[in-house]
Amino acid sequence: MARDVKKIALPGDTVAVPEEFLAGKNVYESVDAIKALLTGKVVRDISKREVRVESLASRKIPAVGDLVMGQIEAAQSSSANMKIYYLNGKKVEGGFSAMLFLRDSRAGRGARRTQVKLGDLVRAKVVSTLNGIIQLSIDDAHTGVVFSLCSNCGRPLMRENGRAKCLECGNVEERKFSDDFGRETIEP
Ligand SMILES: [Zn+2]
Repeated sequence: MARDVKKIALPGDTVAVPEEFLAGKNVYESVDAIKALLTGKVVRDISKREVRVESLASRKIPAVGDLVMGQIEAAQSSSANMKIYYLNGKKVEGGFSAMLFLRDSRAGRGARRTQVKLGDLVRAKVVSTLNGIIQLSIDDAHTGVVFSLCSNCGRPLMRENGRAKCLECGNVEERKFSDDFGRETIEP
């Protein structure tokens, strides 16, 4: 009997035989085989003599309410394109492209404030995934720019009186900051 078990199982694939392993998560026992319930990675826990399948699809795609962190790739006055590198604190492979919609906090009163700029590291909340387009918001206190470089000299900006200031050249810039902007360690 072939004992070659694939590392990735499809639903219905045999992942072990009952004499060898107990059925764990996402598997079921048929007459002479333990089979995968869903597509995922086959994990054989020798110490517990248990075989299970870990879903590959779980939580890899941003959903509404998730917190993401990424970098601004293009910024216009009312929206920005962002590449997501962290999803709920965990690194994502490849990265997702998302749209960040910027609300004008001084609507109707002239000057439009700069909320994000190209290259900024931003934490944002997923507000919609309709039609596969990931839409983000930075309205909450814990969302917004977490790290930014001076557009004048390229040094990291520090926070001063609610604005971002470059301690090297004195350049002052506006952003919509996250509440932890300027901290030494930023949690994704
Ligand atoms: Zn500077």
